[in-house]
Amino acid sequence: MLGIYVHIPFCESKCNYCAFASFVAKSELQKKYINFLLNEIKNCPHGGDKVDSIFIGGGTPSCIDKKYIKKILEAIKEKFDVIENAEITIESNPNSLNLEKLKFYRRIGINRLSMGVQSLNDKQLKQIGRLHNKKQVFEALKNAKKSGFKNISCDFLLGLEKSNFIKIKSMLKSVKNKVKHLSCYMLQVENGTKLEKMLQEKKIVLPDEEKTIKVYDKIVKYLKRHGFERYEISNFAKKGYQCLHNLKYWTRKNYIGFGLSAHSLYKNKRWANANDFENYFKGNKSYIETLTKDKIIEEIIMLGLRCEKGFSIKEIIKLGYDIIKNQNFNDYLKKNILIRNGDKIKINPKFYGVNNYIIANIL
Ligand code: SF4
Repeated sequence: MLGIYVHIPFCESKCNYCAFASFVAKSELQKKYINFLLNEIKNCPHGGDKVDSIFIGGGTPSCIDKKYIKKILEAIKEKFDVIENAEITIESNPNSLNLEKLKFYRRIGINRLSMGVQSLNDKQLKQIGRLHNKKQVFEALKNAKKSGFKNISCDFLLGLEKSNFIKIKSMLKSVKNKVKHLSCYMLQVENGTKLEKMLQEKKIVLPDEEKTIKVYDKIVKYLKRHGFERYEISNFAKKGYQCLHNLKYWTRKNYIGFGLSAHSLYKNKRWANANDFENYFKGNKSYIETLTKDKIIEEIIMLGLRCEKGFSIKEIIKLGYDIIKNQNFNDYLKKNILIRNGDKIKINPKFYGVNNYIIANIL
């Protein structure tokens, strides 16, 4: 079944580390954007397909007028065959949520709430330019529960200043019984961000990557002890609460993205919308690519190794690539860096921290 992604590129302010397509914009631009977005959905040539997941992401979808969210869902339901009980997620920030808004989201069918928490230390939050504080996180979680949200996810950032396992563990401990899903991402210093400048000017000192990888390994064990299984490098879920939508990306299922910079994969064709407003409003794409066999093989290996399930050797061989002859692949198997379980190959969890390096060497 198809997944639908909708990009809302607006935020109340720009976080210091953010390199996503997100902008602080006036209400006129938001209105114009939503109209284009609704048209894009209406004119999609793949209408009628069965849909089992919708993900409204951003940016910060919870910061725009809630009536726009309703219109977007209506447009999707009119165009596609959205199944009953489809997973419908909205991304949010704690400071842009309140009880009334959350109840409204539930009423219009949203059943999964993803919240950008990042840290529960007010000093760290301020340093990375977040607008919320710890108190607002717990307020939002309380209101989400009151509104009837059962499927809640929180995002955390690893590698912030003065961060260590004890501190992160205590943050996770305070939310673990209130959520079903956790995402723990490594802080990346992206080019052109305020964070990069802060580092250059020595206004911030970040722990080195090796230290953060060690913290990550301990977090994996801690979360496992508390019922959160890792199913992708950065994602952990209680049984039955893996994010169906994100799984589509990692298992190469069809999905269509609407909105600025949104990506799509449909029957082995990938494309992405333009990532600036001018070109998006003209209907331009930033790329369109029909995937070759080699590219498909590469994707299956790369995405499979990010996930707990790994990839299937048979599938790769069926596509015409005899991976058994790949020298690096065999070396990794011998060294137990890759693990074979029947037909499936996955990375030894001890090496998740360096997965990019391993994948690059195989490919
Ligand atoms: S809220 Fe998210 S998308 Fe918006 S600026 Fe911050 S990190 Fe970027």
